[in-house]
Amino acid sequence: MSLPILKYGNPVLRQKGARIESITAEIQELIADMRETMYAAKGVGLAAQQVGKALQLAIVDVSGVTDRPSTLELHGKPADVEAFMPVVLINPQIKPMGDPVRGPEGCLSFPEIYNEISRPGFVEVTASNEKGKKIQFRCGGLLARAIQHEVDHLNGILFIDRMGREKKQELKEELDALQAATKEALKRKKSFHKQ
Ligand code: ZN
Repeated sequence: MSLPILKYGNPVLRQKGARIESITAEIQELIADMRETMYAAKGVGLAAQQVGKALQLAIVDVSGVTDRPSTLELHGKPADVEAFMPVVLINPQIKPMGDPVRGPEGCLSFPEIYNEISRPGFVEVTASNEKGKKIQFRCGGLLARAIQHEVDHLNGILFIDRMGREKKQELKEELDALQAATKEALKRKKSFHKQ
């Protein structure tokens, strides 16, 4: 089932995700729903916070993106990125490495807002997958960027927090309008549920 994606201004986006201790049927269903939601929205990643669950769970799929390449190393050897996708990250720990690289970034919780964001070019990842199996890999390019963006979400950090002050100022009106619209929609929903 495709789920509604929370927009900037929803307080869940600022919550740090709780650790997932076991992969219950409920978590499995959430993963399936998140996968469907991400593909329906044509995103390359989705964090549980974006569908209203503050959990250490994200999903990434960069396959099919040809203009921004990715690299992958499994057990120290180059591996096929496409074959590794989608990757489910449960309780991920990352170690960003290498020089910062600037690249375009967007977020499904910020429709129509894009910006160049600077992030380390590579990342070492340790996580559990959807089967509860430990996975470890090193990646670069778009995959490294997407994973850093999603792990930020799991800690309540948003890509606007990584923008320069000037750019954020430039986007201030758009961001304030989005935040106000989200809060207004939440208020309406609350009063509807009270009736
Ligand atoms: Zn995002």
